[in-house]
Amino acid sequence: MSDDVKTPSATGAHDVDTAGAVGAIDRPPCAVPGTPLAGVVDGIMTCVHCGFCLQACPTYLAVGDENDSPRGRILLMRSVVEGELSIDDPSVTSHIDRCLGCRGCETACPSGVPYGQLLEATRATMVQREPPPLVARMILGLFARPALMRPLLAASRLLRASGLPRLLARLPGRVGFSFGMLASTTSPLPYRSYPSVGSGERGTVATLRGCVMEGLFAETNRATERTLACNDYSLTEAPGQGCCGALHAHAGDLEGARALARRNIAAFERAGTDYIAVNASGCGAMMKEYGHLLADDPEWAARAATISERVRDVSELLAAAGPKSGGALSIRVTYDAPCHMVHAQRIVRPPLQLLESIPDIELVPLADADQCCGSAGIYNLVQPELAGEVLAPKLANIASTGAQYVATGNPGCLMHIGSGLLRARQRARTVHPVELLDASYAERAP
Ligand code: SF4
Ligand code: SF4
Repeated sequence: MSDDVKTPSATGAHDVDTAGAVGAIDRPPCAVPGTPLAGVVDGIMTCVHCGFCLQACPTYLAVGDENDSPRGRILLMRSVVEGELSIDDPSVTSHIDRCLGCRGCETACPSGVPYGQLLEATRATMVQREPPPLVARMILGLFARPALMRPLLAASRLLRASGLPRLLARLPGRVGFSFGMLASTTSPLPYRSYPSVGSGERGTVATLRGCVMEGLFAETNRATERTLACNDYSLTEAPGQGCCGALHAHAGDLEGARALARRNIAAFERAGTDYIAVNASGCGAMMKEYGHLLADDPEWAARAATISERVRDVSELLAAAGPKSGGALSIRVTYDAPCHMVHAQRIVRPPLQLLESIPDIELVPLADADQCCGSAGIYNLVQPELAGEVLAPKLANIASTGAQYVATGNPGCLMHIGSGLLRARQRARTVHPVELLDASYAERAP
């Protein structure tokens, strides 16, 4: 859970004076005073360089360079703080850019280094000096503007309905991979609606519809609503909501992320529900951290913290209710844990409980299921080669399970792994765990 993530202020003493002056414990002045990086010096100094995180880092495993490991990146951050390296030195930016932000190092770290916050602050400091690449700025701009995003998603759905993306996924390079991602947004399950009326006694819920989720995974959103209703939650609309801001925060655009967070906070305050259900783990992790994101905003800090406390991954709500059992599905399934589910939100069992509740399902373990697949927001678009290298062992592990379906609760993972499977001509298809539970309920429905 995000509550488990230590904040920099809780992580102990530091030896760099962030105000830029020599302090009481003979520390050097901070070379970047007033920047987001200066605000996380305590967290940087928590690292004791033990190296326990190295084997949990997909980029270190793929590249084998200490500078592409968590320990190496934290040392680069420290070098910037202490003035040994400049924040725009390519020997800093290239290794920070190559970080997936998967936070696998956080759960591996015995010292509680809040790596996700360090990375976010470092990237925010980098973009103060130099804006992100054009392709990243275009993508972030699109996500922040629903009026542009909606027609693009509508055109993507039309293209998907033509069946062409599946064929064009065979094209080489990024172009083919992108078509594979679009093809992978089609549910592999037959769509079947059914009456889903529950008692509502477990509380009221508004769902985050999301931009990509509602645009390309609308069936997963409907499955989310039906399964929650079947498990006695009462659903309420939250009009006015939009993109959660996760992509912006991860790319260092903290102001962009804050603007999007404020819009969502206002929308979910109006809905006034007990819970906010999120079925995209990256968005859920972001919303659980709205309190941290807006901690320095006197008008919004308390409101953000209140909304964050109400956020739940859909699997948490369903697991708390059992979930209720449905009809039998005789299929072989493996589960891949999205990074922002397992490392950022620390949710391990609930998605598995959903799958285990389905009669006749054969759930086979996936080796290194908690390792990043390489999707990581827009990472697969801006660092395609390394994203491919990180994906390769994941595909091999999936092949060895013999599973028909890979269940995973995040749109980026569904598309990235889905495209990899398609292009490698593996038989497995990606699917959201909630869709499998929904299909099970549809089997039982009259
Ligand atoms: S495990 Fe934690 S303390 Fe050890 S090197 Fe990695 S980040 Fe630093
Ligand atoms: S966030 Fe992921 S890629 Fe980045 S240093 Fe940590 S484990 Fe490595």
